[in-house]
Amino acid sequence: MNTRSNSLHETDIAYQLHPYTNARVHEEQGPMIITKGDGCYVYDSEGKKYLEGLAGLWSVAVGFSQPRLVEAAAKQMSELPYIQNFAHKAHAPGILLAEKLVEMTPEHLTKVFYTNSGSEANDTVVKFVWFMNNMLGRPKKKKFLARNKGYHGITIASGSLTGLPGNQRGFDLPAIPVVHLTCPHHYRWAHEGESETEFTARLLKEAEDTILAEDPDTIAAFIGEPVMGAGGVMTPPEGYWPGIEALCRKYDILLVSDEVINGFGRTGQPFGCQTYGFTPDILVTSKQLTSSYMPLAAILMTDAVYQVIADYTAELGTLGHGFTAGGNPVACAVGIENLNIIQEEDLMGNAARLADRLQSGLRAFSDHSLVGEVRGIGLIAGVELVRDKATKASFEPAGKIAAMTAKFAAEEGLIIRNIYETIGICPPLIITEAQIDELLEKLGRALDRTLEWAQ
Ligand code: PLP
Repeated sequence: MNTRSNSLHETDIAYQLHPYTNARVHEEQGPMIITKGDGCYVYDSEGKKYLEGLAGLWSVAVGFSQPRLVEAAAKQMSELPYIQNFAHKAHAPGILLAEKLVEMTPEHLTKVFYTNSGSEANDTVVKFVWFMNNMLGRPKKKKFLARNKGYHGITIASGSLTGLPGNQRGFDLPAIPVVHLTCPHHYRWAHEGESETEFTARLLKEAEDTILAEDPDTIAAFIGEPVMGAGGVMTPPEGYWPGIEALCRKYDILLVSDEVINGFGRTGQPFGCQTYGFTPDILVTSKQLTSSYMPLAAILMTDAVYQVIADYTAELGTLGHGFTAGGNPVACAVGIENLNIIQEEDLMGNAARLADRLQSGLRAFSDHSLVGEVRGIGLIAGVELVRDKATKASFEPAGKIAAMTAKFAAEEGLIIRNIYETIGICPPLIITEAQIDELLEKLGRALDRTLEWAQ
């Protein structure tokens, strides 16, 4: 029997299981169907226009429907839509994008490995680190250090690195050896009266104590997002990253910078590790790499990391790892053109120039009776809502209040993301001053409506 409905809305309910969605609620309310995008705006199936305050999923740097990306994809699609990257095969877009990535990322990163997604990239990082330590005759050195509230993806290994109960509950994760350290977010995790400097010192002591308690010979790598994104947009306290780097060097632990959100200008510098002054051994990028027009992620590594991996491939006869569509030629062609646009239009500079307008505009909401903390850097920010500003007590049930703000914002024509009690904001890098003002105005109205609703 053909149960196909005439309405897309009903067809979606009938046939699709959505990620990050309560399926039963979805059966009742159905989807918000987005049909068109243009610059910083998207339009739903009713024709309503929204300012996209989250750039898709923290990713559409160059805006929606960029004709140069459409052209780059169409050209590559007609010339060579696919060829494998395995077994010495290569294609021009993959080669040229790798060269470009090495040029754009911090100097000491010299080799690129492609995957389709950030999760696959982080799973690959875990496997590469294990592979390296097996080659080096250190079979015990396999554990990862990560942080509570960190987000590294949802596959078996990356979902284990992620420090969010919502991604682990029900999935039997973590499933690899990982130790989660305290989230480096002063507002929520500092002790009563603890200064930022004292907080940093306590976090670094916790990290070192953990390394010693676990045995440094068992700790392979530390992974973190320079600015934590999907866990609630948390900026680290002063001195945190250089301190973590020093510990990694002291105990021979690889330092992995997960820049899936931070990469390509989001924090006001090209990469988050540059914003916070550390030098990773491995750097992971995705999202703004292609503005999410095509699925693609890239792992960059130092020569020292590469040399160990390369030696082991020689010993074993191959690198027994790779994805059929990893580094797909169309995705790489789109990536090159996307990075060309970011460079030619100085979008990283735009993010740095407009950061203050966004950040100080949002900080003006600090007086709002619902707002506990406004935080962020560059063009990424979080606004945390609280029931009581003095005690920082959150509303119950968790996440409900920010979900209402996101709903009111959508009614006002602004898309934002509610993450537990925090509103996540991360507009396309092409955003203008006027559009930032529009974002602030719409968010202000959504906050006022949330307050009315809560009373
Ligand atoms: N790492 C970080 C920092 C992320 O923000 C994300 C996704 O939001 C991932 C990894 C996972 O990427 P993907 O959703 O492409 O698997």
